Amino acid sequence: MSLCKKQFGRLSTGEDVSLYLLEAGDYKASWCDYGATWLSFVMPDRRGIKDDVILGFSSFPPYAGKHPYFGATIGRVANRIADSKFALEGKEYKLFANDGKNHLHGGRRGFNRSLWSAEMNSIGGDPALRFSLLSPDGDEGYPGNLEIALTITLKGNGELSLDYEAESDKPTPLNLTNHAYFNLSGEGAGTILNHRLTLNCSHYLRAASDLIPIQGTPALVEGSSFDFRQPKPMGKDLGNGLSGYDHCFVIDSPDLRKPFALVSEEHSGRELSVSTTSPAVQFYTGNFLDGIIGKHGSMYGKHSGFCLETEYYPDSPNRPDFQSCLAEPGKKWHQATKYSFSIH
Ligand code: BGC
Repeated sequence: MSLCKKQFGRLSTGEDVSLYLLEAGDYKASWCDYGATWLSFVMPDRRGIKDDVILGFSSFPPYAGKHPYFGATIGRVANRIADSKFALEGKEYKLFANDGKNHLHGGRRGFNRSLWSAEMNSIGGDPALRFSLLSPDGDEGYPGNLEIALTITLKGNGELSLDYEAESDKPTPLNLTNHAYFNLSGEGAGTILNHRLTLNCSHYLRAASDLIPIQGTPALVEGSSFDFRQPKPMGKDLGNGLSGYDHCFVIDSPDLRKPFALVSEEHSGRELSVSTTSPAVQFYTGNFLDGIIGKHGSMYGKHSGFCLETEYYPDSPNRPDFQSCLAEPGKKWHQATKYSFSIH
């Protein structure tokens, strides 16, 4: 069990960016303080061959450039807000439109582009890293001074936990997630279409072409390509107008002790199960990856990785019919997600 820190890069402001390496049992995870970004997860396959199962870059500079949110912590509001605005207590708040006319993943300079403070700890003998950030009142158009902390813990059994806490001095919408892209065959080893997925989700949100949920949704998954209640290869139902998944699924019973998702890859024998306290998950099959060059020259094309972004429903600040994602003064906002890796 260990946790160490090394220099990873430098921002144009002169500030240093650090990499943190957590090790427990056969598992190694690395994170950096820029964007509270999950950089890598190295684990053996059933023959003992080690691979990194997270897409990204091997050096810092491309993380500071434009990229599809590899491993980043997303906030204040993950996913989309329709027309880049919302109203709260009779006041309208305008946000930056960075996805057509809609607001995506926190805007121009979301939490993924902020330098977080870091503290190295250990919890019950396990390496634990705590990132924290102060997002000032008016940040990216959102109200309230908001303090956020993310604690990452790695256990020797392959369990990596993300614990998010926040407190605001004014009501503000808040929807935090992590945007890691996984490939259980190893990053750069082809597509994830053969990965088998089980999702304990009986409903999903139907969305318009700009991926904003339509009225009258959630819809039942039963009898549709969105039914993953029994294990099914991610690519099995693609075609016929569906070229990939980028949809929000409603988790039947969110519970940190009970996984809602299980992903397995037969050849490597690697498995990933995910549990969360959040009400929903965006299942995204890397549809917009278009040949970006990643770690050690790997080329990431369409479907080279998948994301399971645990979150509130997209556009919830504008949808009184959806569960509220508000952080409120005097109340601790808390969500947690656990990724458990194993070999079978
Ligand atoms: C979204 C995709 C988007 C991607 C960013 C996902 O969470 O749902 O539509 O392209 O993030 O790369």
